[in-house]
Amino acid sequence: MKPKTIGILGSTGSIGVNALKIVASYPDYFTITSLSAGRQIERLAEQIRAFSPQLACVERAEDIDRLRDLLGQESRTELVHGTSGLAALAAHPSTDLVISAIVGFAGVRPTLAALQAGKCVALANKESIVAAGPLIREALKQSPNARLIPVDSEHSAVFQALHGDLAQAKTLKRIILTASGGPFRDRAADSFASITKEEALKHPNWSMGAKITIDSATMMNKGLEVIEASYLFSVPSDQIAVLLHPESIIHSMIEYRDGSMLAQLGQTDMRGPLSYAMAYPARLDGALPSIDLSQVGKLTFAEPDLKKFPCLALGLTAAQAGHSIPAVLNAANEVCVENFLENRIAFNDIARIIAQTMEAHTLTAVAELEQLCAIDAWARRTARGMIEETTCRVC
Ligand code: NAD
Ligand code: MG
Repeated sequence: MKPKTIGILGSTGSIGVNALKIVASYPDYFTITSLSAGRQIERLAEQIRAFSPQLACVERAEDIDRLRDLLGQESRTELVHGTSGLAALAAHPSTDLVISAIVGFAGVRPTLAALQAGKCVALANKESIVAAGPLIREALKQSPNARLIPVDSEHSAVFQALHGDLAQAKTLKRIILTASGGPFRDRAADSFASITKEEALKHPNWSMGAKITIDSATMMNKGLEVIEASYLFSVPSDQIAVLLHPESIIHSMIEYRDGSMLAQLGQTDMRGPLSYAMAYPARLDGALPSIDLSQVGKLTFAEPDLKKFPCLALGLTAAQAGHSIPAVLNAANEVCVENFLENRIAFNDIARIIAQTMEAHTLTAVAELEQLCAIDAWARRTARGMIEETTCRVC
């Protein structure tokens, strides 16, 4: 068997590092053609030394010399940078599978470029499908060899329950996305104003990058996932339910019209869904250890509290409205999370500023990338303006 050739957008992040662990553990299955990092140049240099890709991309031109110094003269890896570098990586002719694992809207262009080049894309970067859902759907239509395989654990669960047959999704009664509820599931809502970034960065079940960890604390993550599921599976958002499941053992469920339900269970380790997306349609022997359900004892479920977690409510509103609203929600959320992590706004400001940004926007259909980028830029400016006006209560 010829190994599958893999390019990773965002190889130095939490998902990227896990993907490389899988490649290292299954050298007969996978080989690396290209890697990319934002600004973590030392880590990228280590990865280049370990995997000898043909191509590596960094965000800024000024980091190329530093990377070259770290790698030494003998390195054969071609070094590129910026938007054009990411596009070259995404469409690299030697690559079978592109893992889209950049965080945020920065992943939109390379994800689209990979699909337009007819690649199979393992999609972790949920912000790209949230913001650019209509464009991603169009790219899949125009490029018959292109394919999207979800990496997000909930969407991987649905994909696995459907055996990869996306057309089956329209025969479902419901998709049920499970949610751990994050670190503040049982915290009293009247104490949310004083939540610190250190508290919000402590996820009870998953180890992930900072942005998604804050999104999990506000439950915006689940709102983004409803939008993601709606585009991935071509299902209206009112057929997608969210169910609290604190143990995070069931990663999501599907329900057929006759009331029969299928669930996917697994460890809370992203190497599960990642290895499935990378090896699809094969399965990797021993990718994760078995779960001893007798040790787990019981699985519990509850309805999410939309009043306590207004970001989830905003996500559901955006999923329902569609078009440009999810992009506005996403951009405002990215700005708010960044500012919360810099202690410039309080936890409760996140939902307030996103809501006000969404209210200030007039819904439009999204037809082109440049138009989407203008909407994204407008939402960022608007949210930043609101943050400037906010009296800083935490610093
Ligand atoms: P992370 O912050 O750990 O890593 C992000 C990667 O993107 C890094 O390699 C970083 O260098 C790169 N990057 C950031 N900004 C960039 C830019 N402007 N240009 C080029 N590269 C840039 O994030 P993560 O936790 O690995 O998450 C990646 C994506 O996967 C996110 O969209 C997240 O929502 C999704 N996801 C993550 C997990 C998880 O367990 N971490 C689970 C499900 C979905
Ligand atoms: Mg998820």
